[in-house]
Amino acid sequence: MRLGLVNPLSSMSNFLQQSGGYALIDGGLATELERHGADLNDPLWSAKCLISSPHLIKTVHLDYLEAGADIILTASYQATIQGFESKGMSKEDSEALLQRSVKIACEARDTYYERCAEHLSDGTKNGRILKHRPILVAASVGSYGAYLADGSEYDGNYGDAVTLSTLKEFHRRRVQVLAESGPDLIAFETIPNKLEAQAYAELLEEDGINIPAWFAFNSKDGVNVVSGDSLSECASIADSSEKVIAVGINCTPPRFIRGLVLSIQKVTSKPILIYPNSGETYDPDQKQWVQSTGVSDEDFVSYVNKWRECGASLIGGCCRTTPNTIRAIYKALKSPAASPSQL
Ligand SMILES: [Zn+2]
Repeated sequence: MRLGLVNPLSSMSNFLQQSGGYALIDGGLATELERHGADLNDPLWSAKCLISSPHLIKTVHLDYLEAGADIILTASYQATIQGFESKGMSKEDSEALLQRSVKIACEARDTYYERCAEHLSDGTKNGRILKHRPILVAASVGSYGAYLADGSEYDGNYGDAVTLSTLKEFHRRRVQVLAESGPDLIAFETIPNKLEAQAYAELLEEDGINIPAWFAFNSKDGVNVVSGDSLSECASIADSSEKVIAVGINCTPPRFIRGLVLSIQKVTSKPILIYPNSGETYDPDQKQWVQSTGVSDEDFVSYVNKWRECGASLIGGCCRTTPNTIRAIYKALKSPAASPSQL
């Protein structure tokens, strides 16, 4: 399954149709890498594993595919040429690491298909979902704030010195390299403000990026994106770009999602994607997630059919969600309680 270039939006519709009207995005990467023993205490965060332990990344991708994810996001959220160069790497090596993130995800998909071919029973084995289906590899692009690694993707405040052209120049080569590495789409994630959305839209156009993209914004008040910019205005930028095939929200508490989906729907008819975090909040001073306000997998999943009902068609999890969360979403969407009209 490849998303075509001629009419990317209709390709996304075909993909969703083949997936039963909705698709599952994977869950948090960093938490899982740590669970498998990776040390992510580094400004490169999960991208550090591209250097030190690519096999762990592949393991986590496979865990998510076996939990039912139809779309896996590469480990490039915090992988930037500038970030790698600040570690003393050459430009060539930095670009090779970006390529590697896509290669690992594609390899995980191949391995998954091999496993599916070995188990032709009912598609599940010991709780693992082994079902041949269209699977997309989305190349993750974190915001400029994610590169700064100071939590500013959670407030979107880059200061006056950062202009539209600063952002375009910052992202340009990285987006080109990722696009040329063979993913099915580019996932612009945790977009904190309108300026960065505009920068991405212009980059896609100016550089003739030939694969489709999705835009995912984050919110901390349930109304606007984290910078305070209007979500409607941000989503409208995504709506006007022909290269953008889905618009939505990531890394935002589950309780805000419904309202945000409704406001995105007012400005676009493109498919809506949501992959909330677990409901915990990131404290940039402590550089850690504050756990007290999180919701359990069960609570998270209790929202899922409401999100489907209000029109979200791509659903997954962001920070602090796990393969268990995705497996639970998979079950919730397949359960008889989810009526055909919702699917
Ligand atoms: Zn997140």
